[in-house]
Amino acid sequence: MTKVTLFKGDGIGPEICESVVRIFDALKVDVEFEPFEVGEAEYYRNGALIPNAAFDSIERNKIILKAPITTPIGKGFRSCNVQLREKYDLYTNIRPAKSLPNVKTPFENIDMVIFRENTEDLYVGIEEKIDENTVHATKVITRKCSERIIRAAFNYAVKNNRKKVSCIHKANILKMSDGLFLSIFNEIKEEYPTIETDVYIVDNACMQMVMHPEKFDVMVMPNLYGDILSDLSSGLIGGLGFLPSANLGDEVAMFEAVHGSAPDIAGKNLANPTALLLSACMMLEYIGKEEPAKQIRSALFEVLEEGTVRTRDCGGTATTTEFTDAIIEKLN
Ligand code: ATP
Repeated sequence: MTKVTLFKGDGIGPEICESVVRIFDALKVDVEFEPFEVGEAEYYRNGALIPNAAFDSIERNKIILKAPITTPIGKGFRSCNVQLREKYDLYTNIRPAKSLPNVKTPFENIDMVIFRENTEDLYVGIEEKIDENTVHATKVITRKCSERIIRAAFNYAVKNNRKKVSCIHKANILKMSDGLFLSIFNEIKEEYPTIETDVYIVDNACMQMVMHPEKFDVMVMPNLYGDILSDLSSGLIGGLGFLPSANLGDEVAMFEAVHGSAPDIAGKNLANPTALLLSACMMLEYIGKEEPAKQIRSALFEVLEEGTVRTRDCGGTATTTEFTDAIIEKLN
């Protein structure tokens, strides 16, 4: 039995977590969740966004399934995501955007995988007030972090029979920082002669993703562009409710939906649990349990294909619970 640390999160987090846990229970997946309250509510109860017991659990289990967490607004708060990514050096953020059956968007046959560098760039949080009207923010790009994310993208391409890796950058303006990232990409690509490569300036990449999404296969980029382009990629496949992700370090792996805690629909049983469910499938594959991942995906795809039970974000009227029930029914 594999033990997994489960963060139930804020906003819609507990609702979509419940959905995943019910589906795992129905299929009797060989995984035991250790659930923890983390985030805003936990902070107001006990003074810490993530309790020590949750860190102990991560250090034992090394695998986290995490629902979205709200960072309380105010000075001095580092978001849970940033804390976890830093503490466990979860440097590889993988965000696969693939068209889903009968989820209608203006785009078809989308199949791109974004590799987002997860530990540096503008997210190091170094801002300096120069005077009342001027603030500087520091963008950090290092050889070590660029090399490891670029290699992760190429290794993924080889392992998953992908044809191409595209590098996304803004080296025409950020000549030193993105220039370093791009030059490392050009060095590393020589190690992978079977993989095609190309490079896009980030603004052009946005247009091409909408005009010619078929041009993209595996994409690798610094942190900020990865954050923005992956939301764009979710739009290509039906919205944030559908985009899963993995955050991998050398020791710990964390799986989560790309979306936030969606306070506008929290507590209303309206959330689409698909992104967290697909993240849970990525987790199962990561721990070598391909079969239940396959079964869950095919039950989900059947429900989407039929189209009679769908959540509000994709044009339906079903609640989170009804959508979950429909998936469970297909498992039986
Ligand atoms: P964060 O900054 O934490 O990433 P955000 O401000 O980008 O959050 P989200 O919480 O991701 O925002 O929500 C953006 C929009 O997408 C909201 O209107 C929300 O209701 C919708 N949304 C996000 N996730 C889901 C979901 N799982 N099901 C349905 N709608 C969702």
